[in-house]
Amino acid sequence: MRAMQLDGPGGKLQLVDVPIPLPAPGEVLVAVSACGVCRTDLHVVDGDISDGKYPVIPGHQIVGRVVESEVATLPVGQRVGIPWLGYTCGQCEFCAAGMENLCDAAQFTGYQRQGGYAEFVAADARFCFVLPDSYPDLQAAPLLCAGLIGYRALRMTQGARKLGFYGFGNAAHILTQIARHEGREVYALTREGDLATQEFALGLGARWAGDITQPLPVALDGAIIFAPAGELVPLALRSVRKGGCVICAGIHMTDIPSFPYADLWGERSLKSVANLTREDGLQLLQVAPQVPVRTQVSEYSLADLPVALADLRDGRIEGAAVITLQ
Ligand SMILES: [Zn+2]
Ligand SMILES: [Zn+2]
Repeated sequence: MRAMQLDGPGGKLQLVDVPIPLPAPGEVLVAVSACGVCRTDLHVVDGDISDGKYPVIPGHQIVGRVVESEVATLPVGQRVGIPWLGYTCGQCEFCAAGMENLCDAAQFTGYQRQGGYAEFVAADARFCFVLPDSYPDLQAAPLLCAGLIGYRALRMTQGARKLGFYGFGNAAHILTQIARHEGREVYALTREGDLATQEFALGLGARWAGDITQPLPVALDGAIIFAPAGELVPLALRSVRKGGCVICAGIHMTDIPSFPYADLWGERSLKSVANLTREDGLQLLQVAPQVPVRTQVSEYSLADLPVALADLRDGRIEGAAVITLQ
């Protein structure tokens, strides 16, 4: 089968021909139709995170159909979504406490398990989702990471009504729709001078959009940082009111510069979001069709994955990039 493979952290992504994977007991073989591109893929390719099992086929927002299965709940022909969380041990203190996203022995798709930038992928059936019928494959793909880890971040902001999004990409374009549905106000912060993304945010219902150098018109109740830039942390803390929260939603961020304790004082909180639980996925996939969340997708071929990653890096994508396979 054709696949895009990375030989090591910071290595080269290459189109290769590799054997179709053999599903282990409890796994299903899935013919991939679409795989969403995530900022985490950039961090894997750049070697910002390097706990993967190499060589690796990245890609963890996978939509496809089961072509081989001995699992009764996922028969041949069933459409499934395969997310970042690919395996947990079920026994460690985190799994036992309902925090499988923090499992000591977790394996992640497209990182420690082979991912979806390939014609086929084998996945542990327990970690596959059945997708809502109202979403075509292409539109469903961005829900599987941007959507559901984003949804976990959104819930961490609890009741925050005035919500700031630092970095307005794939996750923010989905969460703005959900936040609005929940009666919240979204304030979108983009790179300096990125008027196109500010327009995009306003079109999705953001109350205000500007760049990070501009003063916000209100004090925020909460903020989510999607951009991997540590200097946004003190900035976001200064934009939230007393008791407000700042959530860091990415897997990697540059170092956070030191800042005065006064910026955190007043019971402001700062927290990261790590991975997802299967429960997060079930909740998001139930909520998305009710909103209904509409994902805006730019389509790329498998061989054009490096182009999609470059476009993501340089901020040329409004919404989500998705790789499609025939
Ligand atoms: Zn565990
Ligand atoms: Zn992701």
